[in-house]
Amino acid sequence: MQQVRDAILAGDTTPEDFANIDIPDHYRGVTVHKDEQEMFAGVATKDKDPRKSLHVDEVALPELGPGEALIAVMASAINFNTVWTSIFEPVSTFGFLDRYGRISPLTKRHDLPYHVVGSDAAGVVLRVGPGVNMWKPGDEVVAHCLSVELEHPSGHSDTMMDPEQRIWGFETNFGGLAEIALVKSNQLMPKPKHLTWEEAASPGLVNSTAYRQLVSQNGGAMKQGDVVLIWGASGGLGGYATQYAVNGGAIPVCVVSSEDKADLCRAMGAELVINRNAEGYKFWKDERTQDPKEWQRFGKKIRELTGGDDIDIVFEHPGRETFGASVYVTRKGGKIVTCASTSGFMHEYDNRYLWMNLKRIIGSHFANYRESWEANRLIAKGMIHPTLSKTFPLEQTGEAALDVHRNLHQGKVGVLCLAPEEGLGVRDHEMRSKHYDAINRFRNV
Ligand code: NAP
Repeated sequence: MQQVRDAILAGDTTPEDFANIDIPDHYRGVTVHKDEQEMFAGVATKDKDPRKSLHVDEVALPELGPGEALIAVMASAINFNTVWTSIFEPVSTFGFLDRYGRISPLTKRHDLPYHVVGSDAAGVVLRVGPGVNMWKPGDEVVAHCLSVELEHPSGHSDTMMDPEQRIWGFETNFGGLAEIALVKSNQLMPKPKHLTWEEAASPGLVNSTAYRQLVSQNGGAMKQGDVVLIWGASGGLGGYATQYAVNGGAIPVCVVSSEDKADLCRAMGAELVINRNAEGYKFWKDERTQDPKEWQRFGKKIRELTGGDDIDIVFEHPGRETFGASVYVTRKGGKIVTCASTSGFMHEYDNRYLWMNLKRIIGSHFANYRESWEANRLIAKGMIHPTLSKTFPLEQTGEAALDVHRNLHQGKVGVLCLAPEEGLGVRDHEMRSKHYDAINRFRNV
């Protein structure tokens, strides 16, 4: 891999040189092993340790198929889906690989006894397969994580509706936490030139998801003046939702669990912040019973902050723990847009508040290519910024995932793959200096 790394670091390697580089037939990737999928049986979720299940292995280079590209990955990032994969919850991801493998001989490549994980990457195109014209070896790229087959008509107005829609590096193999990744060419987007490799790799999955969930007509369709309740407002998804709300002229009400995180929200331009720990909300009296008085107390706090306004859009992802409160505090005709259920997927809420007040619950999942492209374009233009707080070497991906699992992190946690150190890959220094403080605000917490 040294030759590939050197060619990228040289900065002046031509596309022809890249096309002629020998690519080794093995590379290092972060994996989980099929024969270990029961290793945490009987262990409580919080005690399942990704350091035990995530390995760095030498794996075989996959064969390159039509419409695909092999990319040299300089940096990647931890997403919550890597945490899910590493603790084999809610299901083992080997079931996804098995089902994907049944489609064709080409997809069968993914069904292996190991799963190379990771749904973000910044790097350089090394090879493209037949039928790829838009990208060539040497292109500096980031990859979004939507994998689609697009043979069925259902996916042709919104590719998220493809019946064979998958999340790359979670429901497919050969993901981004590795020295090389296999992607479909329609996952590629230009790397923002003012960012380092690790900064460029960090927004991908969460930024695209937040864009669809909050901004896109497919999600919340946020407009100027909307009051937006953002759970985990300085976390992976929330750090982008907060920026979209501020950038789009909406009024974010940010919920976080510490004063450090509250400060981060203020640094992104949010004025209304609730520290859920300091307020001590207990939406559940016990495992089965919610406490509507606590919903009311939460709603009162929101009105105090907003000067009496209720919530137009809830940016929901904690799930069971917060969903009842989210439905309650939404204004008449407002929307609860949900993309996850971190604290449990069996939600309960009082439906009287929903139907009598004509509220709507909208499901949202990742983003189509167009939405991902738009989200990446806003990063490239310096209108939305990475939220990278910390970066780990590939060998310590388990530690990085543990930080996210335990909610010890802020914003995004990066991983260096082929990049030998942080800070490399910037091509537009002038633009970087213009946005220096915004790019670095999560690093100094
Ligand atoms: P993250 O970086 O861990 O941020 C989530 C934040 O939510 C946490 O930092 C925490 O912030 C808050 N939170 C967690 N549990 C909570 C609870 N019980 N009550 C209130 N707040 C809680 O994770 P993420 O990357 O934002 O992802 C969040 C969830 O969305 C995960 O389940 C992930 O799998 C899912 N997701 C789905 C998609 C999709 O396409 N469907 C895409 C990305 C992520 P505070 O402690 O500061 O409150």
